[in-house]
Amino acid sequence: MSRLVVVGSSNTDMVIQVPHLPGPGETVLGGRFTTAQGGKGGNQAVAAARAGGDVSLVACVGNDTFGEQALAGFAASGINTGYCVVDPQAPSGVAQIVVDAHGENSIAVAPGANACLLSRHIDAAGRLLEKATVVLLQLETPVTTVLAAARLAAGADAVVILNPAPAQLLPDELYPLINVITPNETETRLLTGIQVCDDASAATAADWLHLRGVDTVLITRGALGVFSSQHSSSAEPVRSARAGFKVEAVDTTAAGDVFNGCLAAALTEGQDLQQAIRFAQAAAALSVTTPGAQASAPSRTAIDDFLA
Ligand code: ADP
Repeated sequence: MSRLVVVGSSNTDMVIQVPHLPGPGETVLGGRFTTAQGGKGGNQAVAAARAGGDVSLVACVGNDTFGEQALAGFAASGINTGYCVVDPQAPSGVAQIVVDAHGENSIAVAPGANACLLSRHIDAAGRLLEKATVVLLQLETPVTTVLAAARLAAGADAVVILNPAPAQLLPDELYPLINVITPNETETRLLTGIQVCDDASAATAADWLHLRGVDTVLITRGALGVFSSQHSSSAEPVRSARAGFKVEAVDTTAAGDVFNGCLAAALTEGQDLQQAIRFAQAAAALSVTTPGAQASAPSRTAIDDFLA
């Protein structure tokens, strides 16, 4: 039984390098084309496994070549795929990604089989979720599935981490089941209506989330780093802002995924919150220095060396 369970999506990424991101109606003649395994669930599971985590993934793929390749890739990364589902009808999820010369990206996703990961699959993985130390969730599968997983995990006292990406409004009943929420600035604005531009606005957004029942809010701010706010019912929230590590960014595609996977791995092995944030920031900083999503997730040795 893995101590870290990731519930989420698996996609095949189709990536084109372009000189600049296309605007509406614009065609940009690009450079290199590559395919790679992606999806926030898969990316975060692989990042956690590379960082040394003992990881199980609950995901749904289609009965096609993309799905086969995805499952083989997870197994090769040492991830338990015993609770992954192969849907007989839906195609595997795909994402079309364009990356510009500065490493900025723009992404369109066809969820396919990810939309077929349902509450009954969560029930089937009940024993796994109940035994987990940490359960990591995102929003590329139906929100009813996310809610079912959060309920089961919270009921069994696992630490529930929600990376609320891609940004969407959440049902009120989900918030109190979440221990740690990790929105970026865009997701924070969509959830709370607050534009984060400094520590004061980040604190206001964090309070909005605390009020709805989330203990720990980590707002990721790209190269600027992470704003954290921890609230227990009796005391004032404990806040801190941790600047990002300075690196040369080549491709920021999966920075958030590497951050979340490594944060979850670090919390699973018992690192305290600030240590875990530092570990995850180091991994995410390393990941933006190389292209790709899962391919850019650094090894445990690389992260430890970077922090040494
Ligand atoms: P997302 O990819 O979900 O939009 P962010 O862009 O906020 O998330 O990145 C997540 C984390 O990755 C950041 O908090 C930071 O620690 C790290 N990171 C992202 N971009 C950079 C960068 N250019 N340089 C260093 N660290 C980065």
